[in-house]
Amino acid sequence: MQQDTLTAEVVSIGDEMTSGARLDTNAQWLSRRLGELGIEVTFHSTVGDTLQHNIDVFRTAALRADVVVCTGGLGPTRDDLTRQALADVVDQPLELRQSALDHIHHLFARRNREMPERNEVQAMFPVGSLEIFNPQGTAPGVDVTFDRPDGSGSRLFALPGVPAEMKRMFDETVAPRILESGGARRHIEHHVMKFFGVGESDMEQRLGEMIARDHVPRVGITVSSATISLRISAIGPSAQDCHRQIESTRAEIMQRVGELHFGDGEEFEQYHAVERMLTERGESLVSVELGRSAVLANWFASLGESSTYRGGFCFAKLGELATVLDCDAAAALETLRRRCGAQWLVAVDEYPSLESSDDQPLPAADVTLIVIDPTGAVLSTNSRLGGHPSIIYERIGKAALAWLRHVLTEPRAERSDNPTAAR
Ligand code: ATP
Ligand code: MG
Repeated sequence: MQQDTLTAEVVSIGDEMTSGARLDTNAQWLSRRLGELGIEVTFHSTVGDTLQHNIDVFRTAALRADVVVCTGGLGPTRDDLTRQALADVVDQPLELRQSALDHIHHLFARRNREMPERNEVQAMFPVGSLEIFNPQGTAPGVDVTFDRPDGSGSRLFALPGVPAEMKRMFDETVAPRILESGGARRHIEHHVMKFFGVGESDMEQRLGEMIARDHVPRVGITVSSATISLRISAIGPSAQDCHRQIESTRAEIMQRVGELHFGDGEEFEQYHAVERMLTERGESLVSVELGRSAVLANWFASLGESSTYRGGFCFAKLGELATVLDCDAAAALETLRRRCGAQWLVAVDEYPSLESSDDQPLPAADVTLIVIDPTGAVLSTNSRLGGHPSIIYERIGKAALAWLRHVLTEPRAERSDNPTAAR
C-alpha cells in the first residue's frame, strides 16, 4: 500500500441501519479519523445482515479502496455474519484461535458467568488473518488482506458495532497498523482543544488555512451543541516529533482564538473548567435554574463528590424559590447563596418551555444569565439564544457557564459588564 495515495471505504453492517431503526454514527466517526490519517474516504456502504450481500459489499469495497473498515456483525448470534463473509471473500476457511478464545473465557470469568457455547464462534478467524484485540468486549476484530487481480492488496479491518469498542480498537490497533503499512514506522498523536462563544463559521474564518485539508498537522473542527472542538492530529517519525507539531500548532491556535478556549481534552467541558477554577480558589458554587430544565445541576452532579458544588435548585419561577425561602423575590438568589454557604451563585432565568412535539428550531429569545460573586454583587447579562429543541437547554446552560467563567477570570475592577440587580 502506498502511504500518500491511500483511499478507504467505510462499511456499516446491520439491519438496524438499513431499516432506519438506528442512525449510523460509526461511519461518521471513522471517516473523520481516517481523514486525520491523511486517507481519503471515497465510499460509505451500508448493508443488512444477509451473508451474500455482505460478501458482495466486501468484494466491491476491496476492489475499489485500499483500506476497508467495517463495523458490526461480530457478535455471537446467527445474524452476525462478518467473519464468515470475510472468509468467503478472501477464500479461506475459518479456524479457531486459542488466544482469542482464552480472552473471551477470561471476560466471562471476570463477570462471574459461564461462557455460552455460541460465543466460541467469536474466536473463529479466516486463515491468514490477524486479530484486533478488543479490551472491552468479547468480539475481537479481524484484519485480513484481500489480493486483487492486479497483484495489489486491500486491507480489510472488521470491528464490532458497539461504538465505544470500535473507537478504542481503531485508535489502539487499526490506525497504527495503517500507518505502519505505509513502510516506515510512523507515529500519530492527537490533541483536542475546546472552545465556546462563537459559531462554527466564525471559528473557521478566524482559523483560516489552519483547518485546510492539507495543513500539517491536520486540524479538524467539530461542533456539539455549541461547543467547538479542534482536534490536532500529528503524524511523524517519532512521538517527540508529533508533540513538537502539536505544541506549535496549539500556540498558533491560541494566538488566533485563545479568548474562546476553555480547556483541553476530548471529554473536557466548561463545567470541568469551572470546577477547576473554583478548586484553585478554594471557593464553592450553587446553581439555580428557572424553567423546565436542570442541565447545570446535571453536569455538576456528574462530577461526583465535589466540595466546590453545593447543589442545584430548579424552580419554574423565581417567585416559588422566594416562597420557599420566605423572602422577597429580589433577594431570593442572594439569600440562597448565603444559606448554602457558597461564594458563588449562577442562575438561568429562564429556560423556554418546550412541548414534547416541538421539533422546529426555537427563535432566539432573551435569557438572563446571573452570577452573584462572593461580595454579594449581582452580575447579569442578557443573551439572545435560540436553536433546535434537542440542544437549546444545553446551549443556554453553556452560555451561563461562559458568563460565570468570564466573571471568574475578569478582575472585578475591569469587568466590562453592567452589574445591575437581576429583577
Ligand atoms: P455484538 O458483540 O455487540 O453483537 P456486533 O459486532 O455484532 O457486536 P452489532 O450487533 O452489529 O455489533 O451492534 C452492536 C451495537 O452497536 C448495537 O446497539 C448497534 O445498534 C450498534 N451499532 C452497530 N453498528 C452501528 C453503527 N454503524 N453506528 C452506530 N451504532 C451501531
Ligand atoms: Mg450483532
